[in-house]
Amino acid sequence: MRYLILTDLHANWEALTAVLDNADGHYDRVICCGDLVGYGADPNPVVEWVTHHCTLVVRGNHDRACTGLEDLEWFNPIARMAAVWTLDQLSAGNAAFVRDLPRGPSFIDGIEMIHGSPHDEDEYVVSADEAAEAFAYLESPLAFFGHTHLQGGFIWNRERVETIPPVSPHCRTESLGIESGFGYMINPGSVGQPRDGDPRASYALYDSEKRKVLYCRVEYDVPTAQRKIRDAGLPLFLADRLAIGR
Ligand code: ZN
Repeated sequence: MRYLILTDLHANWEALTAVLDNADGHYDRVICCGDLVGYGADPNPVVEWVTHHCTLVVRGNHDRACTGLEDLEWFNPIARMAAVWTLDQLSAGNAAFVRDLPRGPSFIDGIEMIHGSPHDEDEYVVSADEAAEAFAYLESPLAFFGHTHLQGGFIWNRERVETIPPVSPHCRTESLGIESGFGYMINPGSVGQPRDGDPRASYALYDSEKRKVLYCRVEYDVPTAQRKIRDAGLPLFLADRLAIGR
């Protein structure tokens, strides 16, 4: 089975459609680590696409915040403004779909799907030390996660945890073989709001027969996504950051 793995779409329709064009023909199923909405200006189209095309989705913290499941006082002011705007924009059906998403971990084909870490969907796993703790909670040797908006992840090689870098700015893909006996936490990187200094949309492909992960980056129409954010009256910072990938 060939999987397209998406995370942190954040209502960015231009980024999502660029990813789908780029990955076309290379996957059989789509699975997602959450944060469909929040920050971007197209929550309804993104949720409708996910509703019809994703086999498995776990919820993210913004999915809770944008559907009234979260106390917004813990969000920073910009994220809170975007959550309130999204709550107002989402159709009743789309809001219900997002509100009812399962909390991870969820499992498919031996793959563990989580938003933050296996024991806390809101935890940011950024360092190798944080990943070492997370590996202790994983039930599967292969997990996909998001939340940090940083493409890459971690390998536990039975001795220590190593960090996987994102695709280099000069390249479009980077492949990683999955070896038995090792543990993998794979972050496909954010589709809709990358924060690793590369503004290109991020995603990953996984071929369960070849046991290979392909990390991918693709350019998308950033100016249109930015214009929609500004036209919607969302905080300008949310438009500006898309250009620099921070
Ligand atoms: Zn996110």
